[in-house]
Amino acid sequence: MKSLYGRLVITLAAIVLVSSVLGFIIANIYYQQNVREYNEKKIARIGYEIVNLYEENPTGDLHGYFTHIANMHFQLYLVDSQGNATLFGAPFREQEISPEIVQKVLDGEIYRGITAEKYGLFITGFFTNTLKNSFGLPIHSNGETYALFIRPNIEQQFGEVHILFGLLLLATFLISIIFILIYTRQLVKPIKELTNATQQLAEGNYDIHVDSNRRDEIGNLSANFKQMSISLRQLDEMRQEFVSNVSHEIQSPLTSIQGFSQAIRSGGVTDELQEQYLAIIEEESKRLSLLSKQLLTLASLEKETNLYEPTLFRLDEQIRLILVMLEPQCRKKGIEIDPDLPETYLYADKQLLSQVWINLLTNSIKFTEPGGTIYINVRSGKDVTVTITDTGIGIAEEGLTQIFERFYKVDKSRSRTNEGSGLGLSIVKEIVQRSGGRIEVNSKLEEGTSFQLTFPSK
Ligand code: ADP
Repeated sequence: MKSLYGRLVITLAAIVLVSSVLGFIIANIYYQQNVREYNEKKIARIGYEIVNLYEENPTGDLHGYFTHIANMHFQLYLVDSQGNATLFGAPFREQEISPEIVQKVLDGEIYRGITAEKYGLFITGFFTNTLKNSFGLPIHSNGETYALFIRPNIEQQFGEVHILFGLLLLATFLISIIFILIYTRQLVKPIKELTNATQQLAEGNYDIHVDSNRRDEIGNLSANFKQMSISLRQLDEMRQEFVSNVSHEIQSPLTSIQGFSQAIRSGGVTDELQEQYLAIIEEESKRLSLLSKQLLTLASLEKETNLYEPTLFRLDEQIRLILVMLEPQCRKKGIEIDPDLPETYLYADKQLLSQVWINLLTNSIKFTEPGGTIYINVRSGKDVTVTITDTGIGIAEEGLTQIFERFYKVDKSRSRTNEGSGLGLSIVKEIVQRSGGRIEVNSKLEEGTSFQLTFPSK
């Protein structure tokens, strides 16, 4: 049987069987080493009693006397000096004894067969029904000496115990097997369930039911598996949403490029209009190019661990340079910039950090009406804090929790004209987290937005 269930049942049954055999062997060894001598002494005492009783009150009828004794469940073997033997009681399985032993007993010695004999590991000497496994002693009657070998008839004395003992062993074994079958089934059931669940997961079905109420390792495994299937489902949903968002973001500029280029090619468009259409085509191409750059940045931020290369640099200088770069845009829109940039050092990836300031500041410029102001200040102490505040359109409360999500735009119709992809802030968040910092946002509709970034100072 190749299943785990079959293997467990066979292994556990084998364990029960081997334990029983080992238990039997140990009991046997214990008998042979500790109980055998005690047993022989007990039989010797009975033997002496039998002999003394007769010798103190000799009736002359030795055979009649031994017949009575044999009726009390003893096996007796009597040999006279001529070698004639008589058996009283049940016969021995092996009725052999050497003439030398008989002679020794006739000469007045005793025979200690119970301790003298060697038995194998699988034979309990206690039960061995042989003449050799007996106690021998001399007995005198009518002036003659006899050799008497005596052994309690275990079969008769303890026959029921024997059966009970066997039944006990058999019942223990059978009941163990039944419990093993039930227990193993219980043990293997959640593993089977998990196997089915894995198959379902492989087929793309994330709606999985596994019993995770158990408090053992299998319960833990099931709970972790359930968690994993939930994460996989979320990941799959995110992937699908991401792909559809990307396709959508690519589709709209492509459609307008297609439309305007067709219009130009079909002719009948004035030079002025043609110029306008070409400008839109250029703008949309730039949008596509920016989108692919942003996607690449996100992908590399997620994947490459060695992308992040921190150095110690002047943060105030970096921001000042970016402000110079964005100055024409601000001037064009009539937005004032109010910087407060004391000398500050930051230990982070300089290249990535400049992306953060560009994204945040271009957003502020984008979402601030002419005449507005953008405040930017840097503070250093235990941490380095950068705050960028604008007096722009603000973000409604329900949008605040989502602005860091990919492709999220608060107002889709308005953003369309602002050429945003909704990826800028998710890139900012990734970079800030990579740098060991955090980002918080406060905003009020029609009043403005404030981003506060905190980095550990080194
Ligand atoms: P986008 O490329 O569209 O600007 P972002 O991820 O940078 O994408 O921003 C997501 C959305 O958050 C924007 O579409 C905009 O609605 C809102 N937002 C970001 N910064 C500001 C800001 N300074 N003022 C108002 N709204 C903002």
